[in-house]
Amino acid sequence: MEKVNFYGLALSDLKSLIKNLGKEQFRAQQLFKWVYDRRIIDLEQMTNLSKDFRQELNGVLDFSLPRISSHLISVDGTQKFLFDMKDGLSVEAVLIPSDDRLTLCISSEVGCNMACKFCFTGKQKLKRRLTTAEIVGQFIQVEDVLKATEKKVSNIVFMGMGEPLDNSDEVFRVVDVLHEPFGRNFSRRKVTISTSGLVPEMWKIGASRTRLAVSLNGYDDESRSALMPINKKYPLKDLLQACREYTRTTKDRVTFEYVLLKGITDQVEHARMLHQMTKSIPCKINIIPFNEHPGSDFERPSDDQIAKFHAELMRLGTHVLLRRTMGRDIFAACGQLTSEFANKPKTMDISNSQIGGVSRVRDFSSRQFSL
Ligand code: SAH
Ligand code: SF4
Repeated sequence: MEKVNFYGLALSDLKSLIKNLGKEQFRAQQLFKWVYDRRIIDLEQMTNLSKDFRQELNGVLDFSLPRISSHLISVDGTQKFLFDMKDGLSVEAVLIPSDDRLTLCISSEVGCNMACKFCFTGKQKLKRRLTTAEIVGQFIQVEDVLKATEKKVSNIVFMGMGEPLDNSDEVFRVVDVLHEPFGRNFSRRKVTISTSGLVPEMWKIGASRTRLAVSLNGYDDESRSALMPINKKYPLKDLLQACREYTRTTKDRVTFEYVLLKGITDQVEHARMLHQMTKSIPCKINIIPFNEHPGSDFERPSDDQIAKFHAELMRLGTHVLLRRTMGRDIFAACGQLTSEFANKPKTMDISNSQIGGVSRVRDFSSRQFSL
């Protein structure tokens, strides 16, 4: 019988598995506590389980995690992890420190089929959707690396590679696994799911009590459709209605992400249209200056233009945040993640860029993290 990966199982799945072995279901809670709370995966050390049962589990459960093949640390403290999956495909996750948070941006798919014009991941068609174990595995590996610093991840954002709602069964199972109070006990309210606008799936975000972020990126249907093909299928009217529904049922605000592309979405007039479009929805808007990547036709606006756009939204009374670009020197900023490009830079020379500084990158690609 092929072993089952432990990290792919919600507590209810593990209970059924244990029931089928003829054992008490509360054993599942004990296992969750050992593995997620105490980080012990050696069955021999799980002394509250009988020796026979431990042996039986040994033949059934597999605790392997995606391998960290590269770990880069930016001058600003951002860390990027490249994970190898068993079939040779890889994805990236990014750990972003801020004053009071340690946010992990994780991937849900290898590549992405949404084909947004400005996104590096989108250039790489969907190779495959990740399994629950592969997504939970990114989180566990990063927290295991963090253990030495006694820090823990405080927030999770599904803003890495892939469209999370295109893989929603796995993504919401991940939330269940990490939320389990006997295990990692990670709050659902600290998980944000960012979508390009797969309207029929969006209700699941409210239902799972996670938080909704929507990549808007356009100020009307025409501008959005030109950048994000998904808008032709689910236009703004439907998308904004789904957002309203989320705010109504959860009493939470939506976060809108808006990428600033030079000469395309960065004009003061666009800021006004964006405000007009979103003002009836409880929301905040994150503006993200475009991050460049190989072969992209777009440009990042000047600092002056970014400031003008930001100021106009503030003047109009929008709750707006200018997202600070993090991890640019290690190619870890929004929209720069990929895994299969031959010309993919591992690092970027930012010495002449707006954020300046000399990039000092440490590559731990030869370092092994084994449990
Ligand atoms: N697929 C999901 C989540 C991943 S993308 C989504 O689209 O929402 C995460 C964010 O990065 C999105 O808001 C997207 O608009 C933004 N993004 C993509 N490419 C970018 C780039 N080159 N520069 C800046 N932001 C980018
Ligand atoms: Fe996919 Fe999001 Fe990139 Fe669009 S922005 S291609 S949905 S990862």
